[in-house]
Amino acid sequence: MAANILLTAGVVFLTVCRFAQSQSESGAWGYSPREGLEPPKWQDNFPACGRSRQSPINIDSLTVIEDTELDSVKFIDYDEYPPDHQWVVENNGHTVKISANFPCPPQLHGGSLHAKYQFMQIHFHWAHDDYKGSEHHLDGRKYPLEMHLVHRRRNRTPKEISEDAIGLAVVAVFFELGNSPNRHLTPITEALKHVEKAGTIVNLTLQDFTLKSVLPQVPDFFRYNGSLTTPPCDATVQWTVMRQPIRVSHQQLLAFRALRAPLPAGSDNNNSIPIYITDNFRPVQDLAGRTVYRYRSSDAPARLTGPSLFLLLISLTAWVAGQK
Ligand SMILES: [Zn+2]
Repeated sequence: MAANILLTAGVVFLTVCRFAQSQSESGAWGYSPREGLEPPKWQDNFPACGRSRQSPINIDSLTVIEDTELDSVKFIDYDEYPPDHQWVVENNGHTVKISANFPCPPQLHGGSLHAKYQFMQIHFHWAHDDYKGSEHHLDGRKYPLEMHLVHRRRNRTPKEISEDAIGLAVVAVFFELGNSPNRHLTPITEALKHVEKAGTIVNLTLQDFTLKSVLPQVPDFFRYNGSLTTPPCDATVQWTVMRQPIRVSHQQLLAFRALRAPLPAGSDNNNSIPIYITDNFRPVQDLAGRTVYRYRSSDAPARLTGPSLFLLLISLTAWVAGQK
């Protein structure tokens, strides 16, 4: 699979110094005190982080509302390749971001989204071990990796999007630990080797990679209104959290943990001990009265919850009574 990844000569931009400088300016944030403001203090510089409608959240499957009005999300052109299979891969010091210059960007429709959206970028959240890393939790369970596919509302300016309660649509995909590498994720984990330094951006040919290849098979999802999970924490996101996790191996997780964070300002780039990007997940936030909805495809096996078990018992009782 490594042979399918070609580094485009001459388009590697090492911007470590410039990045370190911007981090030292006011507004630096991170996930631990050594990186700058840690999550509980983000609101000191970014007030929206302390307001309502924040993400991520724990999704409690017993209290979600089954919404039969929700339909499946339509992932339009998710199987398309960008021109020459070229993707832009960036280590921005907080995560790895993957985007491409699609002439007609893949789109997100349906799923009862309140607008039409176009693909912007993918990025990931992970931890220093295999037992946590995801931003969202499902019934209290943490996954070792979570992928976010970020989409912006079509025909809106960045300023309009930042002020629009439905300006963004983000699809979250959980990864669970598997014994063997997920071959669909391999183009990305191989690409990570080219962006281990913070601030590195490369153009790479990812021959076999499409957005569809890293989506779960089962279309079931949870929907709620939330925010960006990083500063400035704008409450502008319609979240679609896919229920079915896909696989990632321990070795593939190590590739994410090899990505380096920027060194503190004034450090000697050649002789300092590297700092790695780990635990780049925000703690779960208070649901604060919000409702989480669930879409379940007709062929997905129904899990009997308390209320649905109760209704089934009533139906059975009525049926038995009718037989007498
Ligand atoms: Zn994210």
